[in-house]
Amino acid sequence: MPQEVSVPSAIERFVTGGLASMLIDGAFVPAVSSETFDTLNPATGQLLARLPAGDAPDVDRAVAAARRAFDDGPWSTMKPFDRQRIMLRFADLVESRHEDLAILDTLDMGAPIQRMRGNLRRAVGMARFYAGLTTALRGETITNSIPGDFHTQTLREPVGVVGAIIPWNNPHIAFIWKVGAALAAGCTVVLKPAEEASLSALWLGEMLLEAGLPDGVVNVVTGYGETAGAALSVHPGVDKIAFTGSTATGQAIVRAAAGTLKRVTLELGGKSPNIVFNDADLDLAVPGAAMAAFTNSGQVCSAGTRLFVERGIYNDFVQAMSSYTDALTVGNGLDDTTQLGPLVSQTQLERVTDYFDVGRAEGAAVYTGGARLTEGDYAKGYFVAPTIFTDVDNDMRVAKEEIFGPVVSVMAFDDYESVIKLANTSPFGLGGGVWTNDLTKATRTVGALRTGTVWVNCYGQMDPAVPFGGYRMSGYGREGGVEHVNEFLETKSVWTQTH
Ligand code: NAP
Ligand code: MG
Repeated sequence: MPQEVSVPSAIERFVTGGLASMLIDGAFVPAVSSETFDTLNPATGQLLARLPAGDAPDVDRAVAAARRAFDDGPWSTMKPFDRQRIMLRFADLVESRHEDLAILDTLDMGAPIQRMRGNLRRAVGMARFYAGLTTALRGETITNSIPGDFHTQTLREPVGVVGAIIPWNNPHIAFIWKVGAALAAGCTVVLKPAEEASLSALWLGEMLLEAGLPDGVVNVVTGYGETAGAALSVHPGVDKIAFTGSTATGQAIVRAAAGTLKRVTLELGGKSPNIVFNDADLDLAVPGAAMAAFTNSGQVCSAGTRLFVERGIYNDFVQAMSSYTDALTVGNGLDDTTQLGPLVSQTQLERVTDYFDVGRAEGAAVYTGGARLTEGDYAKGYFVAPTIFTDVDNDMRVAKEEIFGPVVSVMAFDDYESVIKLANTSPFGLGGGVWTNDLTKATRTVGALRTGTVWVNCYGQMDPAVPFGGYRMSGYGREGGVEHVNEFLETKSVWTQTH
């Protein structure tokens, strides 16, 4: 029998059907309207919590608090070393409570507990990485060539109040990622978590207060994207939107932000190419390509969902990958042995199963999977079988559009030039993979792919110190690395006459 993880007492208050509040100006409060919405466990359909449906009046209150904390202090006037100490305390809290955070996110959005536990190093690492950068920000002294005596330098200053809008697919990581970088830069934040997975954001907001963060520096407004998220995007008191989510919502945010010309960075969707050459190490590439597409039930922005396999190994490769796929354990994320959990919601289930029909109608063949799982306990949740489409053409919708489910479209290729062309024939440019033992070919492919990340003989690795982000319609700006904090800084140039 699989071992089911039980609900720890620390998170009971978030998952027993009660009313959670949202965090504004250091206090947990209901929505001004008193409206709520339900958040469910996608493995069982059970109610976890009723959350405040925040809207424009709540965003106004949160922005006012963040504005005050930025304009009047104490956050913006605090020394970097003191800000760092708070962020390091927060990192310690995340570390000591990570097991419970992992369970909370598994309950909220369904991901396997083993995957959520695997976030420990990155979650805590990010919190410490950004804490470290707090004391490392610097401008430059520049030698100028104009006549006379002038000293020129740049100062780096926080952009101000940040509206952070995040998705549901890796909730506690998404929170720490955005908030960590914004705080390191000295910004204050109003965060809108995804309606499907807001619970860990509320708990992390509470942990920041416990770590000593002053009231109003980080506010969490729960609610719908079309209301709370939209109100944040147009708000004149918000200096920057840092968004992660779908490309369509990213475009809506850019339009909404145009009125105030607030800064915007976007981490959007993808349809990432993964290329396997004849000479690849198949022991690595077969599971690697499968998990590039199926990890987190395919609910990963950089999932390698367009798989190009060189003709010479195509048949054997697809067969081996299919055997590997069929052996994956799909189930309730709380089971220790689960490798793939449910999809996050009924909406996502319908979207993914619709694509099964779309692919078939376009002439693609379902090699394995291609259906909802409905036997026994599966019927209670939003489970689908990991799915391999073959006979795919790069022009088909299943090869062009982001499905955000465990679905991979496999295509055979005959030569290097044609596969690079196909790989780059996509509006997206987030991730990419190449599998080969030929160093020259690997290096050439890395240079040829128009994507923000390329993984060579591996797929999906992430680290706090390594930048991540998209080319083209996968967005702009980078998260992770020193570059990330720069996205939250303005550059001020200073001219001083010295005679
Ligand atoms: P989504 O629908 O775009 O939602 C993302 C966030 O935006 C949610 O908090 C959502 O609120 C909010 N939102 C929706 N409409 C809005 C509007 N008009 N104005 C302001 N905010 C709005 O995306 P999702 O379905 O949650 O997440 C999946 C997508 O995210 C995929 O496309 C995936 O590729 C992308 N993603 C990208 C990355 C990356 O780093 N590049 C990482 C993870 C996910 P609601 O929850 O209320 O809708
Ligand atoms: Mg949920």
